[in-house]
Amino acid sequence: MKGRAAQALARISASRTTAMTDRAIALRAEGRDIISLSVGEPDFPTPPHVIAAAKAALDAGDTRYTAVTGTAALREAAALHFARDLGITVPPAQVIVSAGGKQAIFLAMAATLDSGDEVLIPAPWWVSYPEIVRYTGAEPVALPTTPATGYRISAEQLAAAITPRTRWLLLNSPGNPTGATYSAEALAALGAVLRRHPDVMVLSDDIYAPLRYGAGAHATLAVVCPDLAERVLTVSGVSKSHAMTGFRIGVSTGPAWLISAMGTLQSHASGNPCSISQAAAVAAFTGPQDFLADWRERFRVRRDLAVAALNAVPGLSTPVPDGAFYCLVDAGPLMARFGSDEALALHLLDHGVAVVAASAFGGQDGFRISFAADDARLAEALSRIAKALT
Ligand code: GLU
Repeated sequence: MKGRAAQALARISASRTTAMTDRAIALRAEGRDIISLSVGEPDFPTPPHVIAAAKAALDAGDTRYTAVTGTAALREAAALHFARDLGITVPPAQVIVSAGGKQAIFLAMAATLDSGDEVLIPAPWWVSYPEIVRYTGAEPVALPTTPATGYRISAEQLAAAITPRTRWLLLNSPGNPTGATYSAEALAALGAVLRRHPDVMVLSDDIYAPLRYGAGAHATLAVVCPDLAERVLTVSGVSKSHAMTGFRIGVSTGPAWLISAMGTLQSHASGNPCSISQAAAVAAFTGPQDFLADWRERFRVRRDLAVAALNAVPGLSTPVPDGAFYCLVDAGPLMARFGSDEALALHLLDHGVAVVAASAFGGQDGFRISFAADDARLAEALSRIAKALT
């Protein structure tokens, strides 16, 4: 008998960010010198106090199951994080800890979507949003954005896209892959539309909140429109802010019924997130935060270097991202030469740089780089890109 995958799997394909990273790792193992600008993960070492907390947890025998939705200590620390860093005041009982923000998004969608439902996603989007939605049987609906709109959706665009089948709007600010951020005013305008549609929920993915380069404070929907907070799920974590991608810890807060539904799913899917990682995340949220400003500044310098180098290559153009650590690069003028953005990405891989084709993000004719790479390696990668394309 031949094995057969579920029909739901035919609706999705493997993550193209992680696929490109796996490929870069495999090529390196073959001895090739590949610089990976594909996956978004800070190159900085995880802070020493976080490492110490993980080691202490191991030594203390914290190696057992924890509560499914996270230890009391981490849910309290996460509530502190939501209040201090995002301005969202919540009781720890309304926090769920999951294996990365990605799992939280998966749980939220799987817990709420039925076949035929629609989910609005500003495009270009993070690669996993539409795939997660499709897996549930619901339909991702793209809200196209361009550099001319600052890669932001407008209130009018949102109003025109909502139908009786719309269940969620997915917002990601600062955004991956565009770096676009929404101001409090822009969110208030979206909130005014959402008020007229009480059945539409909002997933606010704030994982890149500490990585904003522009002026003004981070704005998030649950704070800008407190009357809507009861239908907002805010997702955050330690991966990007504290260089803890491998620990796999995401934290989310939202209405009690949704957190409980996500917990029910998690109880069967994975049980609790890793106990050692949870102890490390407590240290991340409650320990010193002063290094974040220094890291942000170092990312800003790299952003400026990357934007200048990419825009100097004939045929490439990229706007200056306001946040996160990605540049979405347009390579439209080079498409006649390469045929597709996937072919262009493979050409760059041949020249020793791993990037992800823009089509993975619902974009086209270009690619995304992550500039969260070591300074010297980033400079070398940018010069390889220039050489490969000129
Ligand atoms: N979110 C990161 C990225 O977009 C990590 C990889 C992934 O989960 O997609 O590169």
